Amino acid sequence: MMGRAFQLARLNQGLTGENPSVGCILLDADGHVVGAGVTGIGGRPHAEEVALEEAARKAKGGTAYVTLEPCRERTSGAQSCSSKLVNAGIARVVVAIEDPHPTARDGLAVLRAAGVRVETGLGQRMGARLYRWFFAAGSKH
Ligand SMILES: [Zn+2]
Repeated sequence: MMGRAFQLARLNQGLTGENPSVGCILLDADGHVVGAGVTGIGGRPHAEEVALEEAARKAKGGTAYVTLEPCRERTSGAQSCSSKLVNAGIARVVVAIEDPHPTARDGLAVLRAAGVRVETGLGQRMGARLYRWFFAAGSKH
């Protein structure tokens, strides 16, 4: 599943402005894929938003595979992806690599505080390679 999320992320690599291109796959509680998303051209919407919109209520109790830590806050002031995942009732989030960006980081803390099971490190090397430029630039989210 993380491999599929990375395939999605690569689709818009280089096309998402200052935001990194993220891939997200959502599974329902039974393990069926119910949503998939990639960061939009220009950086919006975020991958998690696209996937959650597709999955709608089927996301409840499910798992999200995300290539980068879901954002904690948005520079735009919109609801963050971590909050949206919590509100959708996602039970488990698997993240390849954490986001060092000052606004976006600690999205995992938001998830954990809400009782979501969080796992990191699956696909970490792929994530480190894909987001090297973003981490180095300290870009805006
Ligand atoms: Zn986000």
